[in-house]
Amino acid sequence: MEFLPKDDPELAGLIKNEEFRIENTIDLIAAENHSPRSINEALGSVFNTKTIEGYPGKRFHAGCVYADEVENLAITRGKQLFGAEHINVQPHSGTSANLAVYFSVLEVGDRILAMRLPHGGHLSHGHRASITSKCFEFNHYGVDYDTELIDYDKVRERAHEFKPKMIVVGASSYPRIIDYEKMAEIAKEMSAYLFADMAHLAGLVAANVIPSPLPSCDFVTLTCYKTMMGGRGGVILCRRQHGKKVDRAVFPGCQGTSAVNSIAAKALIFKLAMTPEFAAIQKKTLENAKRLAKELDSKGYRIVTGGTENHQVLVDVSSKGLDGNAAEKILEAVGILTNRNVIPADANSPGKVSGLRLGSSAVSTRGMAKPEIVKIADLIDMALLGCDDKGLLDRVLQTVIALCKKFQVYNSG
Ligand SMILES: *Cc1c(COP(=O)(O)O)cnc(C)c1O
Repeated sequence: MEFLPKDDPELAGLIKNEEFRIENTIDLIAAENHSPRSINEALGSVFNTKTIEGYPGKRFHAGCVYADEVENLAITRGKQLFGAEHINVQPHSGTSANLAVYFSVLEVGDRILAMRLPHGGHLSHGHRASITSKCFEFNHYGVDYDTELIDYDKVRERAHEFKPKMIVVGASSYPRIIDYEKMAEIAKEMSAYLFADMAHLAGLVAANVIPSPLPSCDFVTLTCYKTMMGGRGGVILCRRQHGKKVDRAVFPGCQGTSAVNSIAAKALIFKLAMTPEFAAIQKKTLENAKRLAKELDSKGYRIVTGGTENHQVLVDVSSKGLDGNAAEKILEAVGILTNRNVIPADANSPGKVSGLRLGSSAVSTRGMAKPEIVKIADLIDMALLGCDDKGLLDRVLQTVIALCKKFQVYNSG
């Protein structure tokens, strides 16, 4: 930082503190990742001040020559990376991307079938607190309580009863591979659109380490800051025939000017995502999640669905007499960041959260592998079981800091 400390020392101090916090904590929040420093440079670039409305070549203000090139770069690279027929790189977030998809081909009041939030779905999939539920008539499917897996026969049954115009597949907390082909069959039976929300999974999909929803879906949305590690922002991918409607739904439908700095960061992460280094991190992310699940399972923690096939590990901490809120707090105090989460079994007892959601993205990005994951599982267990022992918690915290020093996020190289 060159100018900020002069203009606002207080804010500059907070940014420094945040950097220190990032360096010295183990981030197991499944919805976060560390980005390359070049992403922050793109986000903080002069493109931040360019006002653009419309699309490359069809803008409503002058001076868009380089902004057009940036957006075209993001479009070309994004289509290539995901094998998409059409892409819109303007959504400010995953939620705005989802809103635009709904409004692209549906009318207010139309029916949408999506995954229930307590079973893994997202607020923007028709939760009653979300504007999405006020615009469309949602109905929800869930997982089987025994297997904790999506019950595709039940989805089919519900779809035939409800007759939605669109089916949404994709989740915030679902650690298993989704059968997009089966969902596409169900959607086809009622001529419904199939929309996959791969907010969490985009980086893994980009690196080809888990199946892509693209071949089976009319629409796919993603966020760039989760496994994708490219900073904040949303993206829509869709079939060619929906392209014009999607573009109109984003602008002028749901948004005004779009953030060229954010589009620049998207162009950058799409380029980096085609490198072997990116693929190696995503592969490691999968391995590390599997290892973490295995270690915690062997210590007697019940792992929701019995394991993982992506970057998430959902732990039922009630199996250790804890609740998710307490577990999150205890771990935060020793420098291990997680988030409390509902699990399917919680669905009927609101207010009581039994789950702790862990993610392997950020630790994998900073280079941690099997020995560190084994250690982290030990530290989690020690802290949770010894949460009344101040001396022990302090030793865990010191071990966490030492581990972070060996695997620096920003300060190395
Ligand atoms: C994270 C997430 C989003 C996007 O959220 P924003 O905070 O709006 O970027 C959308 N859908 C799912 C399933 C998510 O997990």
